[in-house]
Amino acid sequence: MLRGKVAVVTGSTSGIGLGIAKSLAAQGADLLLNGFGDKAEIDRLKASLAGEYGVKVFHSPADMSKPNEIQMMIQYAITSLGSADILVNNAGIQHTAPIESFPPEKWEAIISINLSAAFYAIRAAMPNLKARNWGRIINIASAHGLVASEHKVAYVAAKHGIVGLTKVVALETATTGITCNAICPGWVLTPLVQKQVDDWAAREKISNDKAKEALLSEKQPSKQFVTPEQIGGLATFLCSPAADQIRGVAYSIDGGWTAQ
Ligand code: NAD
Repeated sequence: MLRGKVAVVTGSTSGIGLGIAKSLAAQGADLLLNGFGDKAEIDRLKASLAGEYGVKVFHSPADMSKPNEIQMMIQYAITSLGSADILVNNAGIQHTAPIESFPPEKWEAIISINLSAAFYAIRAAMPNLKARNWGRIINIASAHGLVASEHKVAYVAAKHGIVGLTKVVALETATTGITCNAICPGWVLTPLVQKQVDDWAAREKISNDKAKEALLSEKQPSKQFVTPEQIGGLATFLCSPAADQIRGVAYSIDGGWTAQ
């Protein structure tokens, strides 16, 4: 379905971004991966995805907190792979603390990586998308783009922001072949969440498994983690012709979290 398309997936060396990259590659999309990690491991990842799916796989080490590097990443996709048809703004970080002790540098980092990076990437990619009159912009928000939790002031602000940004871009592209939507996952067991599990286990002096159960029970009625593969499946659907008229939506995939 996506043969001949190029997908740029930020933060795709791990977790949800990697799950989405694999799903898009399985449909034939060439990939520009992005994210941090050991160079040898990233080279192995590129080779294994290229071998498994028969697609071209490049990597950009652009730091999503740096607007000029984001611009260069989009340019790299266009010059090396020919376009940037599918843009998945996924890179993200977390920090938890009450607002009065929330470090300002963590606030700045979360706003820039989880929110501003999507603005810079979409801004850079838009002329190319408009010239081709086809595109899919998928912003990875969160259940925290729709509802709040305590101690996550920067994350919740950034994720609510990205849902708003998604709607504006959807309206500005409404008469074109470019769509823009957000995906709002609940808990997914990635390194970002494992750290919160570890913190919970240490704070309550319980095992890792008990901490996982507690974390899920608090928010996610299904009591099961969402998987990166399931989010990849939803992103693939949003790239399909069936989703041509899905525009400006914040699509929940959260085990019932926001149904409560
Ligand atoms: P993760 O920690 O497994 O992966 C994050 C990815 O982003 C990695 O590839 C990392 O290298 C990259 N990254 C981090 N900082 C970067 C930077 N400055 N520049 C470029 N790349 C950078 O996390 P994840 O859980 O897969 O999260 C991915 C996205 O999904 C985030 O936006 C997160 O907020 C969102 N999300 C996660 C969950 C969850 O439960 N895990 C739930 C809802 C939303």
